[in-house]
Amino acid sequence: MNHNNDTERERDYYRALCNDLGGQLLKIRDEHTRAMAGVRRARMTAALIRRLYHLDHVNLDVANLARVFLETALNALTVECAALFRLDDNGHGFRLLHAIGFTPPAEGILADVRAPAGFHFHSSASAEDEFSAELKRLADAPFHLWAYDAGTGTALYFGNREEDLQLRQRFDAADAEAIEAALDVFINVAERKRVERQLVHDAFHDGLTGLPNRALFIEHLDQAMRRSVRADGYVFSVLFLDLDRFKLVNDSLGHAAGDELLKAFAERLEQSTRPGDIVSRLGGDEFAVLADDLHNPDDAIHLAERIHNALQDPFDVDGQQVFSSASIGIAKSAERYKDGEDLLRDADIAMYSAKELGGASHRLFDSDMHVVMVSRLQLETDLRQALEREELRVAYQPIVELRNGQLRGFEALLRWRHPLKGSIRPREFISMAEETGLVVPIGRWLLWRVMSDLGEWLRDFPERAGMFVSLNVSDREFIQPEFAEIIDAALAEANVPAGALELELTERMLMHYSKLRSDTLPRLRERGISIAIDDFGTGYSSLSRLQRLPIDKLKIDQSFIRDMDRSEENYELVRTILAMGQSLGMRCVAEGVERREQYDQLRELNCDFAQGFFIAKPLAAHRVRTLLEIRETA
Ligand code: C2E
Ligand code: MG
Ligand code: MG
Repeated sequence: MNHNNDTERERDYYRALCNDLGGQLLKIRDEHTRAMAGVRRARMTAALIRRLYHLDHVNLDVANLARVFLETALNALTVECAALFRLDDNGHGFRLLHAIGFTPPAEGILADVRAPAGFHFHSSASAEDEFSAELKRLADAPFHLWAYDAGTGTALYFGNREEDLQLRQRFDAADAEAIEAALDVFINVAERKRVERQLVHDAFHDGLTGLPNRALFIEHLDQAMRRSVRADGYVFSVLFLDLDRFKLVNDSLGHAAGDELLKAFAERLEQSTRPGDIVSRLGGDEFAVLADDLHNPDDAIHLAERIHNALQDPFDVDGQQVFSSASIGIAKSAERYKDGEDLLRDADIAMYSAKELGGASHRLFDSDMHVVMVSRLQLETDLRQALEREELRVAYQPIVELRNGQLRGFEALLRWRHPLKGSIRPREFISMAEETGLVVPIGRWLLWRVMSDLGEWLRDFPERAGMFVSLNVSDREFIQPEFAEIIDAALAEANVPAGALELELTERMLMHYSKLRSDTLPRLRERGISIAIDDFGTGYSSLSRLQRLPIDKLKIDQSFIRDMDRSEENYELVRTILAMGQSLGMRCVAEGVERREQYDQLRELNCDFAQGFFIAKPLAAHRVRTLLEIRETA
C-alpha cells in the first residue's frame, strides 16, 4: 500500500515535472518561432531591398515601377494587399500609383484623406487616422502597416487579413524598419528615374521654349525618312525658319527681351502647325517644322503662308510692341536624300535664298541654290580675310551745292578689291557683313581710314575748311553702346573737327531708335556731327516721328530721282519730299543724279545738294586730292 502511495507520488511528481517541462518547451518553441520570425523577416527585408534596387537598372516609368515594386514586395514579404500612393497635386488626398490584393477606388484617388508622416501600425479593427480608416474600408485587412514620406508625398501600404502566423506574416511594430526601408528604396529609385528622365528630356529639348532640339528633330526626320522608304506616296516637308533681324532686337532691347520674343515666336509657330507636325528650335533664332504626311506637296507652301500670317501682329516684349517676321526655306522629301541632316541642310539653303528676298518670305529648295550658297560661303570666308589682306578701299563721291555748283563734300563708299573677282560693290557684301557681325570691325577700319584722309585734306587745303565727309553707318555699328566714344577717338586722333563729319543712318534704324533707350544721337549732335537719313522714302518713317528726331539732312533715294525728269509722278514725289524736308528744317540731298535735266529740276525745286554720276562717280582718295587742287585753282 505504502509502496503504491509512493508510486502514486512519484507519478504525480513526474507528471508535474513533465507538464512543467512541456510548458517550458512550449515557451522555448514560441520564443524560437518568434526569433525565427524576426530572422526570417530580416532576411526577407534584406532580400526585398536587394531586389528592389535591381529595379533601378530596369527602364520603367514611375507607374510601372510602382507595379513591379509592389509585386516584388508582395512575394518577398508574404503580404496580401499592397499599395503605393502619391499626395495629390492639390495637397488633399492621395493618388494611387498602384494597388495589389484589393479593389482600389474607381478614380484611383483617396479624396480629402490626410496622412500623418512616419510609420503606422495597426493590428486590430480600430483605425486611428484617416489614411488607415480609408484603407481598412477598401482592403478590409485588419492587420496593416504603412509609412508616409511627407517630403516626397509618397505612401507605402501593406495589409494582411489572416491571423495564422504560419501562413501569413502578422505585422507588429518591429516591421517599421522593413516598410520604411522599402519606402525609402522606392523613393530613391523613383527619384533617380525622374532625374534621369529629366536629363534625357533636357538633352533633347530646348530649355527656353521647351521645343524638341536639333538632335531630336533630326531623329524625327530620320524616322519620317524610313517611313517614306517603306510607304509609297508618303510625303513630308521640312520648313527651316529664321527670324528676320533678330540680332537687332537682341542687341538693342537686350537678351531678356530677345528670349521673350523667341518664346512668343515658338508659341505662334506651334499654333500655326497641325497637331502631328514637329516644331523644333534648332538654336539661336532658327526653328524648323517637320510637316508630316502631306497629302498635297503644296501644303508646305500653305503652311509657310499661315506662319507669315501668324506673324502679322506685333509681339508684346517687355511692354513694347515688336514686329517680327521670318524667312522660310522649304525642302520636300525625296529619294535622293540619304538622311535627315541632308534634307535639313537643303531647307537651310532655301531659307538663305528666302532671306535675300528681304525677309518675310519663303522659298522652295532647288538645286541651283546649292551653287549660289557655295559661292556665298566662299565670299564670306574671303570677306573675313579682306581686312587683314588690305583689300578694302574707300571711294569718295563728290556732293555739290546746287545753288552754286560748288563742291561741298563727299560720301565715303566702301570698296572691296577681291583678288579674283576684282572690285566688289557694297550692295553685294554689306548685308553679309551685317549678318556675320563683320561690319563692326570693317566699320572701325573705315572710320579710321576716312578720318585720316579727311584730316590730310583739311590740313593741305585750308581754304576747304567747310568741307564734310559723310559716312554710312549700319545698324549693327550704331547700336554699340560705345559708338559715340569710338567716333570721338577717331576725330581726335586725325585732328578733324566734328563739324566735318556726317553720319548716314537708315530709315529703319531711326524708326526703331526711340525703342533703343539710347542717347547716342543727341550725344553725337552735341559735338556738332550732323546726321542724315539715307535712302529716304524707301522706309516707312512717319512725319511725326521724323519731327521728333534730331536729324539734319534727308538723302532722297535715287529711285525717286531716277526718272523725275521723265515721269510727272516722280517729279511730284520729289517736290513733296523736298517741301516736307524744308518745312522740318532739314537740308535735302538728291542721290543718283545722272542727267542735266534732273540737276536743273532739282535746282529749281530748291534742293540743297546733289550727288550722282552726272556730277562725278565715286573716286579713289588720290583722285580726290587732284579734284581739290583743280577746283582750288579754277
Ligand atoms: P548709298 O549710301 O545710298 O550710296 C549711294 C550708292 O549709289 C552708291 O552705291 C553709289 O555708288 C551709287 N550711286 C551714286 N551715284 C549714282 C548714280 O548717279 N546712279 C546710280 N545708279 N548709282 C549711283 P554703292 O557704292 O554700291 O553703295 C551701295 C550702298 O551700300 C550704299 O548706298 C550704302 O547703303 C551701302 N554702303 C556703302 N558703303 C558703305 C559703308 O561703308 N558702310 C555701310 N554700312 N554701308 C555702306
Ligand atoms: Mg549713303
Ligand atoms: Mg543712299
